[in-house]
Amino acid sequence: MSTAAGWLALRDELLRWRDAGLVADFWWRDDDATHPTAALQQLLALSAAADVPLALAVIPAGAQPDLLATRAARVTVLQHGVSHRNLAPPGQKKSEFPAEEPPPEAVGRLQQGRQTLQSLFGAVALPVLVPPWNRIASAALLPLLAGGGYRGLSRFGARRAGDPASGLAQVNTHVDVIDWRGARGFVGVQAALDQALRHLQARRLGEVDLQESTGWLTHHAVHDPATWAFLDELFERTRADGLVVWRRADALFASP
Ligand SMILES: [Zn+2]
Repeated sequence: MSTAAGWLALRDELLRWRDAGLVADFWWRDDDATHPTAALQQLLALSAAADVPLALAVIPAGAQPDLLATRAARVTVLQHGVSHRNLAPPGQKKSEFPAEEPPPEAVGRLQQGRQTLQSLFGAVALPVLVPPWNRIASAALLPLLAGGGYRGLSRFGARRAGDPASGLAQVNTHVDVIDWRGARGFVGVQAALDQALRHLQARRLGEVDLQESTGWLTHHAVHDPATWAFLDELFERTRADGLVVWRRADALFASP
């Protein structure tokens, strides 16, 4: 499929949503923010220029007050772990929340991180956890998050009805624009659009939860020019055709 055909296929799918009387919705999460950089400024400028809400997943350890020098209503802060350090034993998949850590200790660490973000960003920081590597290896931790003050959880992949996230709104991301296994650059227009198309189709056909907004995951620190150009085009096209609503994180995570 050519690049043009990829955009056409996305538009066709969005037209199917409209014809079915459905509202296609997207949201945007960007991970690994701690301090202001040129890439972060570019990200914030892109969100402003395109008027697309941005949920910035900020790592509490190392988060600096001038991260968001100018506040904008469309930008919210989510909690990206605590330190973003891998605490999993050797040989296991990376996680900051391994099964080996007693869950109350993990909750305590999380709450300290939460306080850091709250003191830096006030109400802009939502009680929503984005675990580093999108992974919580400790199954016993999930049921404790709501009691620990969290309202939402965001990982990667379509949520399942049976996900053990009681009391939490879970809205994941579904499109990763970075090719982590390859050159850690842009995954390519087709590959990015294919991921979005698959999730939209699965939602429309009832194979996954129709209500879960399709999430675009970006990592500003590693964006190459092709990644920035793609996001530019995505926002421009979705604004021009009016077939998509870009949701704000505070609305997405308002209730479980
Ligand atoms: Zn991360």
